[in-house]
Amino acid sequence: MSDNAPVRVRFAPSPTGKLHVGGARTAIYNWAFARANGGAFILRIDDTDPTRSTDENTQIILRAMRWLGLDWDEGPEVGGESGPYWQTECLPLYREAAERLVAEGKAYYCFCTPEKLEADRKAAQERKDPFQGYQRTCRDIDPAEAQARVDAGEPYTIRIKVPLDRGDVIVHDAVHGDVTFNAKELDDFIIFRSDGTPTYNFATVVDDARMGITHIIRGDDHLSNTPRQIMVYEALGAPTPTFAHISMILGTDGKKLSKRHGATSVEEYRDAGYLSDAFVNYLSLLGWAPDGESTVISRERLASEFSLDHVSKNPAIMDPKKLDYINGEYLHAMDDEQFAHEVLVPELVKAGLETEGSLSHDEAWYALLARALKPRCTLSADVCAQARYLYTADDELAHDEKAVKKWLAKAGAGNALDAAKKVLADCDWTPEAIEAALDPLPEQLSMGKGKVFQPIRVAVVGSAASPGIGETLALAGRDHVLARIERARSLAG
Ligand code: GLU
Repeated sequence: MSDNAPVRVRFAPSPTGKLHVGGARTAIYNWAFARANGGAFILRIDDTDPTRSTDENTQIILRAMRWLGLDWDEGPEVGGESGPYWQTECLPLYREAAERLVAEGKAYYCFCTPEKLEADRKAAQERKDPFQGYQRTCRDIDPAEAQARVDAGEPYTIRIKVPLDRGDVIVHDAVHGDVTFNAKELDDFIIFRSDGTPTYNFATVVDDARMGITHIIRGDDHLSNTPRQIMVYEALGAPTPTFAHISMILGTDGKKLSKRHGATSVEEYRDAGYLSDAFVNYLSLLGWAPDGESTVISRERLASEFSLDHVSKNPAIMDPKKLDYINGEYLHAMDDEQFAHEVLVPELVKAGLETEGSLSHDEAWYALLARALKPRCTLSADVCAQARYLYTADDELAHDEKAVKKWLAKAGAGNALDAAKKVLADCDWTPEAIEAALDPLPEQLSMGKGKVFQPIRVAVVGSAASPGIGETLALAGRDHVLARIERARSLAG
């Protein structure tokens, strides 16, 4: 294909299941390649398998694509000039294309029954024929005779006529380099089944050709299909696009990614609280790197710098720890207001701690909570467990047993609580003022800082882990803090 044709790429999922991590990465690479080259990103639904394709899966895929922020220039919901974008709507186009090939002598009707094919295969095996494929039985039937048999209602398939002198088919793959296949091995493969449906290798090429696709970026499980597809391009007289087959994604144990490794569908990650930007960032790095170092790569950078020559052909490893790390980096990079609006409040609502439209506190309170929790989160949902003490009645707060044992039930803890109660009763109620009020206590009581502050923390939060003591107490409110200290007094040594 000419180098200066405008880039057109497509993502063509089969709606036989949800959008999985591997498919999502393929979609991301296509999207980023289109954006980086000022080209078009097309979404096509390959729903030719009627038994396994469902509308529900299509909707799930579209939703997942929207969540990933992979806007498509042509396809379902947006339309475009190279539709239809559902393969089931293209059946007449495939038939027309196949019949044109028959008329041009580049494909032919085959009347071999499954029994005959099986018998031929066995015979080839027995005589140790190096070629075990289709014996080209119907290749030379006179076209008029073949047409008459078709017209008389005899069942048939349509096979492509691979030129006998074609020689090697070389896939010039942008990731794998040149990969050579022996055309003799390709067989006169079926492009139309006897039930009147096109095969994947045919339908996909008819569509890619009519849509003017310039680059095909897809999983390397399709590399072995590519020489057959090249045969179809050649028969159709259409330019062959550039291929880029991207590696498989493996789990940390080196095995093909599957349910065993945890979440595999995009929506599971969304529901687990990953940010779309972080998830896209992470997946984009499974096989691509702009340089040797960057791990946080903005969507803008991906969309401007993505290139196929930085895509690795080695399998990529899906490492949940790295995904979490990147997600945390995105959370930490938000300012407090953004974190409050986009992460904190939605998560609290989702957990049933707040009600949308009638929040229990003012903006400043959520901003303070955001400031306190943001550095302590790797996933959005992490806020809920940490904020729970703020949504619990004073007399229902449970105290973590270990924390009680370690900090409250210790000599001196009672004194620490008493002293804290006194200074907290009339200090200003800001994190800074609270810290300033508590600060002198360790020296006054001749106790270590932990021994003074941890009992207060356990009394107010119920556990020994929380943000800074000033923020922790400020958020809870003075009355609640004093009531909780009072209540914990009976547990203290
Ligand atoms: N529908 C095919 C799949 O999901 C598309 C493969 C291709 O990109 O050609 O595997």
